[in-house]
Amino acid sequence: MPELPEVETTLRGIKPHVQDRTVIKVTVRHHQLRWPIPRDLNQCLLGARVEDITRRAKYLLFHTTSGTLLIHLGMSGHLHLLTGYIRPKKHDHVDIELDNHQIIRFTDPRRFGAILWTIESPEHHSILKNLGVEPLDRNFSAHYLWESAQHRKVPIKSLIMDNKVVVGIGNIYAAESLFLARINPNQPAYAVSKEQCVDLVRVIKRVLRKAIQQGGTSLKDFLNSEGKPGYFSQYLQVYGRQRLPCYSCGTCLSSVKIGQRSTVYCPNCQKETK
Ligand SMILES: [Zn+2]
Repeated sequence: MPELPEVETTLRGIKPHVQDRTVIKVTVRHHQLRWPIPRDLNQCLLGARVEDITRRAKYLLFHTTSGTLLIHLGMSGHLHLLTGYIRPKKHDHVDIELDNHQIIRFTDPRRFGAILWTIESPEHHSILKNLGVEPLDRNFSAHYLWESAQHRKVPIKSLIMDNKVVVGIGNIYAAESLFLARINPNQPAYAVSKEQCVDLVRVIKRVLRKAIQQGGTSLKDFLNSEGKPGYFSQYLQVYGRQRLPCYSCGTCLSSVKIGQRSTVYCPNCQKETK
């Protein structure tokens, strides 16, 4: 699944080629994604100039002179930038052609992605307005995390994966960050100390930045927006390593289900604190 670093990598990959370009053609081959693609997307986008592209959580926001296009890559989506027309394959659902004849192609085999359009300010859109802070912003601080954790009995892993608290920390990055901060993923959120919050926020930012730097990714089949595989998977400490020895202490790594997601941790390095 594309996680925040992959989305950020996609943004950085396509932005220089798309910014200040005008849309000259939109082709939708399949309308049914997670939500239906607006039937009038072509009318909305035709002649619109892309002023900027930003990211909020895992949504890419194409700010145009006519409105904002919101794209989510879902479970298996990709955006590719084609320098000319290539015959579409089965899962290439949408093409957006620009006045330099480059084509933004949206591909999504499982169709859990989304393409939406709004003429209002996107931060007020129903899917964005209740989101928590961005993990790489200054307002995601140790103090903020600690305050958010008060009176919360959920495991700390569930708290940092809660989009209403902080966005875009998926299963992989949550597990990795908790290992590096030596915090047990099942520790109740309220019982995480201020010092642990300092460590956790620091490692979350470090892990995400490193993943972005390395072109995103985590999953074997992911290709970044320039078609190269990401390399982050080589650096994973715990994710996908259940029953293998901990890199730090050699203890056999355990796996536990938290919020229906399997979570690998080291029972020695990540002891629950009272
Ligand atoms: Zn260990």
